[in-house]
Parts: sequence; C-alpha cells; structure tokens
Amino acid sequence: MYLLVPEVPSRRDEYEQTQWVREECYRFYVAQRRASCTYLQLMDLWLRAPYCSECILSYPFNFKHFPDISSANWEEDIECQLGEEASARAKDAEAEGASSVFQCKRCGKDLAPWNGDEIYIVHYHLEEHYQIPLETAGRTVSKGLKRKILRLYDNKCFACGETKNLHIDHVLPRASGGTAAFRNLQPLCERCGQKKGDSQPEEVEVYSDIYFGPYPSDGYEGLFW
Ligand SMILES: [Zn+2]
Ligand SMILES: [Zn+2]
Repeated sequence: MYLLVPEVPSRRDEYEQTQWVREECYRFYVAQRRASCTYLQLMDLWLRAPYCSECILSYPFNFKHFPDISSANWEEDIECQLGEEASARAKDAEAEGASSVFQCKRCGKDLAPWNGDEIYIVHYHLEEHYQIPLETAGRTVSKGLKRKILRLYDNKCFACGETKNLHIDHVLPRASGGTAAFRNLQPLCERCGQKKGDSQPEEVEVYSDIYFGPYPSDGYEGLFW
C-alpha cells in the first residue's frame, strides 16, 4: 500500500528558505550598490515590474490612469520607459510572431502590446518586497552580522578594496541616528573610515528593471520573478 504524504515544509525549511532569499537579495543590493554608489552614499533600490490592466486595479498604490506602455504607442513607450535595448527586443518579438514580450508580475499573463495589451509599471522597494526591515532598534553590530556583511562585500573595503584592518561602518553615522540595519552598514578599512568620519551620506535612488529583462537561464531562475 502506498501512502501519499503531502510535502509540508517544516519550520526549519521555511526559515532556511527565507534566509536564502534574503541573502540573495542582499547580494543583489551589494552588486547594485557597487555599480551605482560611492561609500559616502546610501542606496535606495527599487525594482520595476510589469502589471496587466486588471492587476493594476488591485495594486495598493495605484495612482495610474494611463498605461505606461500603451498598445497604441508601444514602440516609443518602451524605448522611453525601458531604453533602446528593451524596445529592440520587443520589436523582434513582434516580428517573430511571439505571443508576448513581458509577463504580468502578479498573474503571469503574457503581455503583447501589439495585440492590444496595456502595460503598467509598478515600483517595489527591494526591502519591502522581501519583507526586510529598513531599520533595526539597535545601533551596534553583532559579530554574526559583521561576518555576514564582510562576506557579502567579499571581505574588501567598499571604498578602496583593501582587505586588511576592516571594520563595519555606519553609512549614516550612529551620531546622526544611523542604526545597524543591513543597508546602513558597509566594510571600510581604517584609513577610509577615518577619512569618512561622521560626514553625512547622500541618498541615491536606483531603479532596476530585472523584471523586464530576458528570463534568466541559470539556477536563479524564478527567484526575482
Ligand atoms: Zn496581471
Ligand atoms: Zn579603504
């Protein structure tokens, strides 16, 4: 006799999965920060995703009355919103007779503006999306967190790449209310840390179009989709 046992994830499984997703998310943040930010800046990372005309109605911050990519003017709209590369990809898809160029992030519906689909662009705050708190109550960095930050930044000073005498710097200084939240921490060497001192950081906003890119083919498939 065979018994069908449903696979219910244990608390441990759930915990490990959440940790893993968070770590991937942190890695993504660090990669984007390296590409777009100096060590004196604090980066706000937004993910942009396509929504269909039905799903946009249930989006809690829906102030949109007109689609960002309208079916009537989709070539210009895509170029204006997402750049030339995305526009060229969409034109190729249409020429090949493809059924879609994007998928709705919420319901998975295929979206082809040349077939009349209206596309809305929704912004997600990276931390919000993964339910990672933007602030923590504490200001001091635990040993475990220090290890994690060092590992994510490849054990290098974020400013100069030095690998010796690293400490964890608060981007917004503790003296100005900076907490030990992940996005406020970075590894700096002694020299860069002294140079930075208690100077105030500048906020940088970066918008990432990963939801609009070609579908990934490696093991990370599905993570951000
Ligand atoms: Zn949808
Ligand atoms: Zn340094």
